[in-house]
Amino acid sequence: MLQGQKALVTGANSGIGKATAIGLGRAGADVVVNYIADRAAAEKVVKEIERSGVRAYAHEADVSQEDQVTGMIATMVEEFGTIDILVANAGLQRDAPVTEMSLDYWRKVLDVNLTGQFLCAREAVKEFLRRGVVPEVSRAAGKIICVSSVHQIIPWAGHVNYASSKGGVQMMMATLAQELAPKRIRVNAVAPGAIRTPINRSAWETQSAEADLKKLIPYGRVGDPEDIASAVVVMASDLLDYVVGTTLYVDGGMTLFPGFETGG
Ligand code: NAP
Repeated sequence: MLQGQKALVTGANSGIGKATAIGLGRAGADVVVNYIADRAAAEKVVKEIERSGVRAYAHEADVSQEDQVTGMIATMVEEFGTIDILVANAGLQRDAPVTEMSLDYWRKVLDVNLTGQFLCAREAVKEFLRRGVVPEVSRAAGKIICVSSVHQIIPWAGHVNYASSKGGVQMMMATLAQELAPKRIRVNAVAPGAIRTPINRSAWETQSAEADLKKLIPYGRVGDPEDIASAVVVMASDLLDYVVGTTLYVDGGMTLFPGFETGG
């Protein structure tokens, strides 16, 4: 589905990013596995991707640092020749009630979750525009998939920094999509619901926590990283070439206001 394409996945040594990087490799893409701290975990992902017969390497960079992002894309162009797919996935939480939320917590989450996606998108777009459409590779000059969250539209008490960052991702994605569609660049988002990864371990690691979580999920199961990976692979492929500026919610129905199933 993605043969010959070159993909960068940020935050790809864990959780959703890891599954997505492996999924893109299985679909035929060469993959850069971005990570910030755990090189050994990133190298394991690289090995797993290589089992699909494609190329991969790990690249350490903090997506919130402009020079590191610029360097990461420049290295990718040197190593792989170009970039066709950016999956802007790296993200984190720093939770606190508003009265206890420090400016550091606020800034950290906005810096990584929103500014990090912006910086990666900006640098990828420069290369998409330089290269243009290569019809044998893809109908688009480039694809950006922002990993957002159901919290781009569901308010989340105690997480004002995170929800604000994802609301920002939604508008950044739509604005870039509008600006870049005439250049044949597709910008879209995938918005996960509750996916079993380290970021939300406390929400699923005990039986009672998981039971509470499931009350918010009409489909009745917590998602797996592979649920998101599949959505990203299809979103990046020419099967969805006419999909521009959309958010695909992959959430087991979490955004369907499940409280209204019996109430209201
Ligand atoms: P995760 O397992 O904690 O993965 C997050 C990844 O981002 C890690 O690889 C992390 O590296 C990396 N990262 C953090 N700060 C970074 C930085 N400054 N530069 C580069 N990489 C950085 O969590 P996840 O659930 O897979 O999250 C992936 C994305 O999905 C996030 O954007 C998250 O908001 C979104 N999401 C997740 C869920 C869910 O239920 N899991 C739901 C909605 C949205 P380290 O581990 O080294 O810090």
